[in-house]
Amino acid sequence: MTIYLDYNATAPVRPAVIEAMTEAARRHGNPSSVHASGRAARHRIEAARRDIAALIGRDDGDVIFTGSGTEADALAVRGLGRTSIAVSAIEHDAVLAAAPGAARIPVASDGVVDLCALEALLSTETPGLVCVMWANNETGAVQPVAEIARLAHTAGWLLHVDAVQGAGRLDPAALSEADSIALSAHKLGGPPGVGALLVREGLAVTALIGGGGQERGRRSGTENDIGIAGFAVAATIAAQERETEVARLSALRSRIEDGVRRRATDVRIPGGDADRLCNTVSVALPGVAAETQVMTLDLAGIAVSAGSACSSGKVKRSHVLDAMFPGDPVAAEAIRVSLGWNSTMDDCDRFLHAWGAMRDRLSPVARPSNAESVPE
Ligand code: PLP
Repeated sequence: MTIYLDYNATAPVRPAVIEAMTEAARRHGNPSSVHASGRAARHRIEAARRDIAALIGRDDGDVIFTGSGTEADALAVRGLGRTSIAVSAIEHDAVLAAAPGAARIPVASDGVVDLCALEALLSTETPGLVCVMWANNETGAVQPVAEIARLAHTAGWLLHVDAVQGAGRLDPAALSEADSIALSAHKLGGPPGVGALLVREGLAVTALIGGGGQERGRRSGTENDIGIAGFAVAATIAAQERETEVARLSALRSRIEDGVRRRATDVRIPGGDADRLCNTVSVALPGVAAETQVMTLDLAGIAVSAGSACSSGKVKRSHVLDAMFPGDPVAAEAIRVSLGWNSTMDDCDRFLHAWGAMRDRLSPVARPSNAESVPE
């Protein structure tokens, strides 16, 4: 059986989510229809909207359902209508691709946005939209979004926060001043293909997709009520269990970090000095390509990611680690281990066993061929 340690890519769907979606699939009714079935579907979607806003502590919010976290980011970046855009250098491709000409905000070597550089940029560029993610998907580094909101608003900018990885794992109080927030169901144990953008009440958003005028004209297309039902349940469970899960997963993450450090003194943990997500650790093995590590672990029955996998399945150099360590090979040598609701201590121990064997076999400093006394 595979040990699944890739929750930041997608989490296994929670059993309660499967139940809720199965129940939703048995019902029918277009939420835009005026008859009773349609009105019942509309009622369920509105209830889900409240559950999802509650996950990020925003009952005042205005939640727009989308087809993914990627679409939610694109809707904020393009739909908020600001021409001047600044993005952190470690944003997900969903944000970077939506704002190709944006000014880049640098990060320090711990993976956290450089607030002095941000403040300087905000005061020199025309005020527009600044995008900083809540927590990075590769290193887990948590960004000071409350402080960034304050700096942005003082300088007349709006703040968009990609909360896809932070939601359900971090205290939502930090998001209280954000102007828009992107979420994705499948990182929480909900279904893939459902996301949401929460916008501050009264903020205008121009649709990327026109048509039937759903989501108050900001995202046309019949709502995915089955997926939304699953998203709402996943959000509710994540909110209820957040504190206990943070404690449990932090202990698992420490087990992994201590274990790799004990097995190899040359191992690097990018972002290890920052405040990080409880479930995420980036582990770099000097001299061994990330792609090789992922494949070797896969053969040993362990599923992890390289820092940045693209949709073709190829591993590309991590722009996140490049931003933290310019010109350093670490950007091509790190794997990401990410835990979640179904992870156990046994998973961590089996990972460590496989990782140790891999390291002994592949690391240039551990390989017998490098030891003078060992013949080929
Ligand atoms: N933003 C971050 C930080 C992510 O990690 C991801 C997915 O990996 C996304 C956005 C995109 O979300 P989705 O897969 O729902 O499009």
